[in-house]
Amino acid sequence: MKLATELNADLHAHSTVSDGTLPPRELVRRAAVQGVELFALTDHDEVAGIDEAAAAAAEIGLPFVAGVEISVTWAGRTVHVVGLGIDPRNESLRQGLVQVRSGRTVRAMQMGEELARAGIGGAFDGALKYVGNPELISRTHFARFLVERGVCRDTREVFSRYLVEGKPGYVPHRWASLAQALRWIGDAGGVAVLAHPARYPFSENELWALAAEFRDLGGAAIEVVTSNHGAGDVQRFTDLALEFGFAASCGSDFHGPGESQAELGRVGVLPYRLTPVWHRLV
Ligand code: AMP
Ligand code: MN
Ligand code: MN
Ligand code: MN
Repeated sequence: MKLATELNADLHAHSTVSDGTLPPRELVRRAAVQGVELFALTDHDEVAGIDEAAAAAAEIGLPFVAGVEISVTWAGRTVHVVGLGIDPRNESLRQGLVQVRSGRTVRAMQMGEELARAGIGGAFDGALKYVGNPELISRTHFARFLVERGVCRDTREVFSRYLVEGKPGYVPHRWASLAQALRWIGDAGGVAVLAHPARYPFSENELWALAAEFRDLGGAAIEVVTSNHGAGDVQRFTDLALEFGFAASCGSDFHGPGESQAELGRVGVLPYRLTPVWHRLV
């Protein structure tokens, strides 16, 4: 018998509408080919790909969940909150996302200036070549340009040498508050999921404080299985989910063939003790 947690759900992926390399339609088709049984598109701070993805999923009979990944600043650090089962037409969510996206272009220009100071010219225009949505310039687009230039071998190297705090191309940015992100997701009828919890530079105490605040603001789930979680992380966040009463989500955080740590639908299944987040999606 197949357990509820064994569904091959991939509830975290990006298209060209944010910093992925496949258009929504192709991403959905690839998910189906890879054996995904329930799929969510979760572009950064943007829902413009949802209609195309939903239509493509309906055509091939792949169960689809409308999603978004909202950038949040919490305790001075960037945290990502995924909203699943959202209504992409909800005005509160749409207005909120416009606000979150609004600072990206100025930030990208500043990144261009910082990189120029570090001896890498033309990075803003170079990054723009990789951008599919002019409102959504991301560090990932700069990373692709620096690889093209031969400055680094791959995007991971670009991040560690240039694009993270303390490195020459990093520009601090203030995103939405945790309360705003949860309000927008709630207004749009969605379930809020704390994304890739192992990726944050928090101490155990800070992480628990984040989880408590997230829960108190209405957060309902946490990603337990995601591409950067090893077995230890899965265990740790299984315990956290059980402790806080969170449902569990599972997603690859796929950005494109050859670039991502995990292929669509290839991150493994949730531990059986957890309540899958899809049980909370109506
Ligand atoms: P931004 O929203 O512009 O700050 O860009 C964040 C995106 O950069 C993330 O969603 C990832 O796609 C990518 N990213 C962040 N850190 C890394 C890393 N260490 N290696 C590769 N990609 C990364
Ligand atoms: Mn990304
Ligand atoms: Mn993320
Ligand atoms: Mn993501």
